[in-house]
Amino acid sequence: EATAKAFRSQHAISVRGTCPAPAGSFQQARSCLGDDLVKGMEEQGYSAPTPIQAQAWPIAVRGHDLVAVAKTGSGKTCGYLLPALALIAKRGPTQSLQHKKGLDQRPPAQPSCLIMAPTRELVQQIGKEAKKFAGIVGARVLGIFGGVPKGPQVSALRAGIDMLVATPGRLRDFMTGDQSKAPVVLVDSVTFLVLDEADRMLDMGFEPEIRQIIAQCPAAGSAQETLSGEARQTLFFTATWPPDVQRSALHFTHHALRVEVGQSSG
Ligand code: ADP
Ligand code: MG
Repeated sequence: EATAKAFRSQHAISVRGTCPAPAGSFQQARSCLGDDLVKGMEEQGYSAPTPIQAQAWPIAVRGHDLVAVAKTGSGKTCGYLLPALALIAKRGPTQSLQHKKGLDQRPPAQPSCLIMAPTRELVQQIGKEAKKFAGIVGARVLGIFGGVPKGPQVSALRAGIDMLVATPGRLRDFMTGDQSKAPVVLVDSVTFLVLDEADRMLDMGFEPEIRQIIAQCPAAGSAQETLSGEARQTLFFTATWPPDVQRSALHFTHHALRVEVGQSSG
């Protein structure tokens, strides 16, 4: 506990709630993420977890909800991607890799991990980051976003995925389907939900779509339930912390632990 306090104070980490000790080194992170994913981080040439990663990893792998406030460039993406992949590795893929049916007759995609982000560029960036590590655990990752034809994204979804990175608008389109078409994504198996750049998503007016999507996800649960894969945990990442973002964080998470790195406005 003394070491946890010293690490937090050294890295300007403040926490709300009873948080597990940060994983200040890759060695310490092995017990949360497993040896292989940590090795993947080391192979990127990184020498240690960033402060937000150090504190977010042990929280996320224990099944807790998390509100993380840290400035741009602080390594938030790997802060949620690595625990998501560790959980996929532990629970296994949500649907069979080998479908005998033709692509058109396949059931909708049912990812266990869903990451929402505000723009196409961010979705592509997160997808690229995820693919650096996904192979380590055999996770199938896909990014979907608007402004491009749906066909290729539909085919990719039908092939089966574990982790979906999406803008809220395109995801909602795929969940509702068109008049003649059935949904191509169901979020009823999502046990790990991330709202990345949540402050920007609110600014851009995505709150209604996010609400509609979350309403179709499994209910929020206790950490024990989420660890057993029966309920959903939610991780809310933001660079800024003004009152409207605080309200939204409270609305979208359930008994969340809060971690802030550096100075905040709230
Ligand atoms: P944020 O989402 O907080 O703005 P990113 O996740 O985009 O930050 O990370 C910023 C940069 O830091 C990226 O280039 C990323 O690859 C790099 N990075 C991530 N984790 C580490 C680490 N542990 N050590 C050094 N660099 C890292
Ligand atoms: Mg980011």
